Amino acid sequence: MLKVSILDGYIDEPTCLGVPPYISPYPRYIAGAIWSYDKSAQIFYVTIDQIRNDNTLLDVLSKSDLIVVIAGMSVPGRYLSGFPVSPNELVSFLSNMTKSLKILCGPAARYGFGVAGGRKTREIDAVSDVFDFIVRGDGEIVVFDLLENKFNFNNVDSSKCRENASVIRDFALKGSNIVSQHPFFPDYLIAEIETYRGCPRSIVGGCSFCSEPGKGLPDFRSVKDIVNEIHRLYEYGVKHFRLGNQPCIFSYMAKDAGKKEFPEPNPDALEKLFKGITIMAPDLKTLHIDNANPGIIARYPDKCRRIAKTIVRYHTSGDVAAFGVESVDPIVIKKNNLKASADEVFSAIKLLNDIGSKRGSNGMPELLPGLNFVFGLEGETKKTFDMDYEFLKNILDEGLLLRRINLRQIIPIPGTNMYQIGNKLVVRNKRFFQQFKRKVKENIEQPMLKRVLPSGTVVRDVYTEKYDGKLTFSRQLGSYPLLIGVPGVLPLQRFLDVKVMDYGYRSVTALPFPLDINKASRKVIEVLPGVGKKRATRILVKRPFKNKTEFLDCLDDPRVGSEILDWVCFK
Ligand code: SF4
Repeated sequence: MLKVSILDGYIDEPTCLGVPPYISPYPRYIAGAIWSYDKSAQIFYVTIDQIRNDNTLLDVLSKSDLIVVIAGMSVPGRYLSGFPVSPNELVSFLSNMTKSLKILCGPAARYGFGVAGGRKTREIDAVSDVFDFIVRGDGEIVVFDLLENKFNFNNVDSSKCRENASVIRDFALKGSNIVSQHPFFPDYLIAEIETYRGCPRSIVGGCSFCSEPGKGLPDFRSVKDIVNEIHRLYEYGVKHFRLGNQPCIFSYMAKDAGKKEFPEPNPDALEKLFKGITIMAPDLKTLHIDNANPGIIARYPDKCRRIAKTIVRYHTSGDVAAFGVESVDPIVIKKNNLKASADEVFSAIKLLNDIGSKRGSNGMPELLPGLNFVFGLEGETKKTFDMDYEFLKNILDEGLLLRRINLRQIIPIPGTNMYQIGNKLVVRNKRFFQQFKRKVKENIEQPMLKRVLPSGTVVRDVYTEKYDGKLTFSRQLGSYPLLIGVPGVLPLQRFLDVKVMDYGYRSVTALPFPLDINKASRKVIEVLPGVGKKRATRILVKRPFKNKTEFLDCLDDPRVGSEILDWVCFK
C-alpha cells in the first residue's frame, strides 16, 4: 500500500493563508491528487507544530514512501496558534530520512523562505539537499504526475501548473477528508477556500511587490465547484469557512477579467455563491471573506454595494474585507503600480461602513474594512509616512470604523519588481517606520478599537487559545479576529462569551460573561471595576452570595457595588 505523509509547514501568501487555525487548500488538493491516483493510499497528515511538540511523529514520516512538505511565507504575518516551518527545522527533521522520497511544495519552493518583513526570502539552497524534488508549479498537479510516472523524476515537469480551475474539481472533493487529521479539527479549524486565482491587474504588471500576477490571468472556479467543496468539508465536520483564497472577492466572476485591469463586478454570481454555500452548509458557524480591491469598489460603487449587502445577508458577523492600500503617497502609488488612490480607498471605506458597520449577533460589527500598508516600496520618503498618517487620522476624524490597520515591511520576492530593489528602503527608512507605527498605535488604533467595541460590549464565542502569564489569550474564529485577554488562567480550547472592559493598542481585556461571582477566580475579581486586592479578599471570604443585596452588603462602598453589578451574576 502506498504510504504518504503530508507535513504542513504552513503557508502565508498575499492571497492564501494556511497557518492554524486555518488549513489552506494546498494539503487538501494534494491529498485529493494522491487519492485520485490510488484511493487506498494511506495518507498521514501532520503539522509542523505537532512535530515540534512530539518528535516521535518523525518515526511515522520515516516509514512513508513519500513525504510531501508544504511550506512558505511570502507575506510577513503575526501568529498565535502556529508558526511557519523554518529551513533549519526541515534540515534537522528530514535529513536522516533516507528511505522516503521527499518533495517540497508551496511558496517556499517557488520563491524561497520568507523569514520576516523587511528581509529578502532565503534561497531554497538551504534545503535543496534535503529534498529529492522541488515543485515550482502546482503541488497537486506535479504530485499526481510523479505518482503516475512511478517517481521517475526525469519524466515529470516540476513547474507544471493546472490548465484551468476545473482540473482541481475532483482533487478538492477527494482531499477534503484530510481535514479530520488536523489537530484543530473540528471545532477550531477554518477551511480557507479558493474562489479563483490570478489577479486581473496582471495585465498591467500588478503591484510591484506582489507574487499573485505570476499566477497569470484570473481563472475562476465555478459556483458549483466551490459550493460542492464546502458541502463536502461540511459533511466531514468543518463549520468554519473563509472565502480567502483570491485577490478580491468583489471581482469574483467579474466581466472582462483578463481584459480589463478593473473588471466590472458580477453581483449575481456572488449572490449565487453565498446563497449556495448557506443552503449546502446551513449550520455553518463562520463564513468570512478576506481580500477586496478598493479600486474596484470605488469604480463600481452600485454593483459593489449590492455585493456587500449580499455578503452581509449570508455571512457571519465580525467579517473583514482586507484592503491592500499599501500607501497613499501618489509617488509611491505610481512607482509601484498600486491599485487605488487615497480618495478611492476612502470612498471604499465609506461604502463598507454604510453597509457593514451595524453590530452583528456575535458582538462584532457585521463587515468592516481592514487596511494593509506596506513599507519599503520604491519612492518611499519621510513624506510618505506623513501622508499615510494624515489619511488614517482623517478616517478617525470622520467617525468611520476600521477593524484593523496592518503595517508591514516588504518581503522582496523573486520574480517581482521589488526584488531588484530589495530591502534598501526598509533599512533607510527604518526610523520613520518605527515612529509611524508608534504614532498610529497610540493615536489611531486605540481610539478606533474603543469605537468598534465600546466598553461593556458582549463578544460571543471566543475561543481560549494560549496563556500569557496570568492572562488567557482568546479570539473569535474568522478573518482577522481581535485578540482578547481574559484575566486568569482559564481552561484552553473552550468557547466562552466575554464582556469588554479595557483596551490595549490592538487588543482588549474582557471578562467572562455572565460572570458568576460565586465561582470567579481571585484574579478576575481583582480586576472588576473598583475592586482591587483588599475588596477581592472581602468578596472571597463572604461568598457564596444568594442575591444582589447580600453582595452589596458585603462591600464597604455601595457605589463600587452597583458598578460591579453590571458585570456579575449570582448562580
Ligand atoms: S491588486 Fe496588487 S496586491 Fe492585489 S493581488 Fe493584484 S497585484 Fe497583488
